[in-house]
Amino acid sequence: MLGIAILMSTSFWPIAETHLEWRQKDRHSYFLATRLHGKDNEGQPLFLQQQAAESFGELQEAALKAGWDIQVNYAYRSHRQQARLHRRAPNWAAKPGYSTHEQGISVDIAGTSIKKCRRCSRQSTDLHRWLLENGANYGFVNDVPKEPWHFTYVPDKKD
Ligand SMILES: [Zn+2]
Repeated sequence: MLGIAILMSTSFWPIAETHLEWRQKDRHSYFLATRLHGKDNEGQPLFLQQQAAESFGELQEAALKAGWDIQVNYAYRSHRQQARLHRRAPNWAAKPGYSTHEQGISVDIAGTSIKKCRRCSRQSTDLHRWLLENGANYGFVNDVPKEPWHFTYVPDKKD
């Protein structure tokens, strides 16, 4: 209730008009999600858990001041969407039921990695380094190191 009141009284710029919806977390539970600006890689609206969305908005605002216009490739994913992605790319999309995207607390941020050469792994970008340095101030950590684009909201990491 307090969260909703705060959202309504303050203009969190990156959040689209405090758009709240119930999204399914697993077979038995739902969570209240906030819609972010923009669309995901599949043209679907982007959602995060309310608290994560609020903090992400603050992170986006700070990033913008530092010169980064953060674009999101994926945020919340339904069980079905996760299953489809896992079938298509089992190496980087976790099994359905095991992804923090399904909990609405993770974002995949565009422009955080570049493919360097044929054998070596991905090299991170200036934006990735900025996120590593500043993301935790807003509770966002790169919790899957081999995926530099994947940031998860872990509130106790917040300074
Ligand atoms: Zn991810």
